[in-house]
Amino acid sequence: MVDAGDESFHAEVRCCTFEPVLANFEVGAFFRRADPRLERGRQRLAARIRERAGVTPLGIDRPPTYPLWRAADERNFGRDGSLACGYLDASDEHARCTVHEARNAVCATWFCKHVRGARGGRFWLALRAFLRAMEDSLAHHCLHALGVEDEALLALALEKDRPYQQPTPALHAALWGERRFREQHFYAECHELVDGLDGAEALALGGATVDRHRRALLAAARALEPEPLPEAVVLGPRTASERRGDRVALRTYRDSDPIVLGAGELEAVAACDGRSGADAADRLGEDRLRVLLDHEVLVPAG
Ligand code: SF4
Repeated sequence: MVDAGDESFHAEVRCCTFEPVLANFEVGAFFRRADPRLERGRQRLAARIRERAGVTPLGIDRPPTYPLWRAADERNFGRDGSLACGYLDASDEHARCTVHEARNAVCATWFCKHVRGARGGRFWLALRAFLRAMEDSLAHHCLHALGVEDEALLALALEKDRPYQQPTPALHAALWGERRFREQHFYAECHELVDGLDGAEALALGGATVDRHRRALLAAARALEPEPLPEAVVLGPRTASERRGDRVALRTYRDSDPIVLGAGELEAVAACDGRSGADAADRLGEDRLRVLLDHEVLVPAG
């Protein structure tokens, strides 16, 4: 999600300076359904399967050439076109995601701005952690339920120990066993298996790990409920400003989600530093104060 205020984001790659790991059942969605809208994703995933590197019964990892260390540098995020995700469709003038229908937990929950600011961001972060735990649990369930052999599991452990490298022919053969060259079919079976689970079954498969993330997610949802204004407010720790014409953009909990204020409102916000919540609400209006609190421009004192 990019708007006109985010000049710093590369218009074609946007926030897709990242390449996701796709779980086996997510890949399988493309090979189980004949839907023509999935065709570009199907072609891209089929190419990845042919390339072999990072392609295992657990899913499809990043290609070995992806410069993960550079993508991990926040300064490059959304800006460095050479980090563009391999699932972006370069032939599409809008550079759409070819695997959008079965994108993973990270891609499904990342936003550069949040309704409810930092609070909303914490909810999405908790949801991402929960979904990642679910993905991991369900991908492993597929290996178990589809009878992946011990030798292939050993090969998987060896492959995970040397990520982002081309597997040797022997390792590739061991990873896939009789399923070698039928990878698309295996992934489709994984999708069918997961598609057939109801929510309670899927949760139960995740055991204590998924339950931990489920409870954290519920806590994040409760934190979105209305609460009384703080007794006192102070300026947030990350507050800095940048002029945008006759207005000022205040940095908030995240650089990509600034709050833009006119000069008069900026003075009013500064005057709230150290005041009671009720006083700040009188000066700014309660709704505006709550937005500023959510974005951590102002924070509860103490
Ligand atoms: S998978 Fe799709 S949404 Fe995720 S980074 Fe790649 S192009 Fe973007």
